[in-house]
Amino acid sequence: MGSEHRSVSKYPLLASFRGFFLACSVILFLNACEKEKKFPEGKVPGKLVLVCDDWNVDNWYSYLDSFEKYDMALTFYVSHFHTMSPEQKAKLLDLQDRGHEIAYHTLHHIPWNTNYTQKEIDDYLRVEIDSGVALLRNEGLLINCFSFPGEVYDSAIFQHLKDRFAHVRTSHFGYFEYWKRRREFSLMPDKDQPFRSYALDNASLFASDGNGEMILADLRAGTNVALLFHSLTYEKQPYTTNPADFFGLIKEVHDAGIPFSTVSGFYR
Ligand SMILES: [Zn+2]
Repeated sequence: MGSEHRSVSKYPLLASFRGFFLACSVILFLNACEKEKKFPEGKVPGKLVLVCDDWNVDNWYSYLDSFEKYDMALTFYVSHFHTMSPEQKAKLLDLQDRGHEIAYHTLHHIPWNTNYTQKEIDDYLRVEIDSGVALLRNEGLLINCFSFPGEVYDSAIFQHLKDRFAHVRTSHFGYFEYWKRRREFSLMPDKDQPFRSYALDNASLFASDGNGEMILADLRAGTNVALLFHSLTYEKQPYTTNPADFFGLIKEVHDAGIPFSTVSGFYR
């Protein structure tokens, strides 16, 4: 300690460097405090749960760098696994290894029919659910979550699915008009956590009319938001989302310090 004091007085230039570094440290510390204060009054921000459905593995994987850049954690609900190439299966495993979640979305994406006979229910469970999910699990994918294809949710099959998956999701996401009503509901029929849910498909209507600002405001205020998309592309097709609009919103979420969560991570 003593020698340090002597060296400071002997070398004024060194002292000024020390002062400079001390000032930098204080600024960095104050910046860190400022970041902490982004959510005043002890408010905890909501979590952004991004869910992505269907089979567009190559499309999802091509945005891997952006997922990493913004510290995103997504849940991919996969159908048509039996038609995928070894490379596509490897991409799903890599997404899982990087902290994303792979979930299940049936084998052939056949929507549930509420008029099924008992035999048809048994066949659906055997083919669409059990044989399909076994294919994914055999490849090392840790499947905890399921989502119904289409907009159908039927309590008749729900218990069968609950016996097989930790979290069963509906597909009742609001589109543009729906979102404007800002309705909250649980994505998981057996859980009471409310989300505001919105589908980012259909030519990125979310990017217009202040929807992005509403999403951010809700997250900042502590509301959990779930957003569904299918693939990211500049081609205007059904079930596509404009990448610039999507990552524009994601960047704002990231910069605001709002956390992303997978579905399993949310309920952990
Ligand atoms: Zn689907």
